[in-house]
Amino acid sequence: MKRSWEGAVLKVFGAKDFSLAVTGREQIGPQFMRIHVDGGSLLADCGVHPTMWIRLWFDDNGKPHQRAFTLVNPDAAAGTFSLDFALHEGRAADWARAVQAGETIEATVQGSKFDLPDPAPTAAVLVGDPASIPAINSLLTVLGDIPATIWLEYSHDPDRSLPVHARARDTVSWVPRQDGGDRLVGEVCAALTARAEATGAGMDTGYYWLAAEAASTRAITRHLRKTLGVDKRRINALGYWRSGEAS
Ligand SMILES: Cc1cc2nc3c(=O)[nH]c(=O)nc-3n(C[C@H](O)[C@H](O)[C@H](O)COP(=O)(O)OP(=O)(O)OC[C@H]3O[C@@H](n4cnc5c(N)ncnc54)[C@H](O)[C@@H]3O)c2cc1C
Repeated sequence: MKRSWEGAVLKVFGAKDFSLAVTGREQIGPQFMRIHVDGGSLLADCGVHPTMWIRLWFDDNGKPHQRAFTLVNPDAAAGTFSLDFALHEGRAADWARAVQAGETIEATVQGSKFDLPDPAPTAAVLVGDPASIPAINSLLTVLGDIPATIWLEYSHDPDRSLPVHARARDTVSWVPRQDGGDRLVGEVCAALTARAEATGAGMDTGYYWLAAEAASTRAITRHLRKTLGVDKRRINALGYWRSGEAS
């Protein structure tokens, strides 16, 4: 598949291209599909870090359709990993619904990186939804003693049974997607304000990892930065998808 100008621009930034071979599929929930792949030399060439994501190239009636997905259970020795797809409308989701073992998909690695803030945070706040559960799970493996407060937005009741690898020291709150995401934004911002009032300047010892729908992610980031004055180096925010609905 031709990747037009997007592929050329990524090359300028040092992108590496790979072909992934699908080896199997597993339905994790009614709206969530796990696809197992052999990544060839991807893991050996690029290494692995928490929240690591790759760009997959889907075919959209002959046109390239590039979307980001997160590595799940990477096995560096075997060169294999999985990809979890939240199922909704869309070319990527449709591909996951239909793909079978033996098929291949092209992938590009460029742009993914991960660092915990220095000095190490005393607490973590993670905000996402099914699309970012793979990244949240990988993040939880490196938090050590740092407790995490996790908010997850859901659109379908069974999403609440998706595997979140929270530890005993973590709390998980599921929030229904309502009012174009305003409910999640309202609940998270109110809780963060209450936390700031309780801890005073303690907000700047935290780590805020935000990967929900784009407008919601922006609104929570704005609240942290503008209202609560949190240092931007403590915030890692990336809208994982863009809603077409008016908020
Ligand atoms: C760094 C990064 C890592 C990501 N990792 C994952 C991952 O591991 N698993 C995963 O499922 N997603 C992940 N995403 C999100 C994924 O890239 C988007 O959801 C993408 O839009 C899906 O493409 P699509 O072709 O299926 O739908 P699109 O063509 O982009 O959108 C079609 C329609 O579906 C809606 N839509 C798109 N995504 C969602 C969603 N997540 N929930 C509800 N409605 C949606 C859109 O609003 C639109 O109306 C990641 C995103 C980023 C930025």
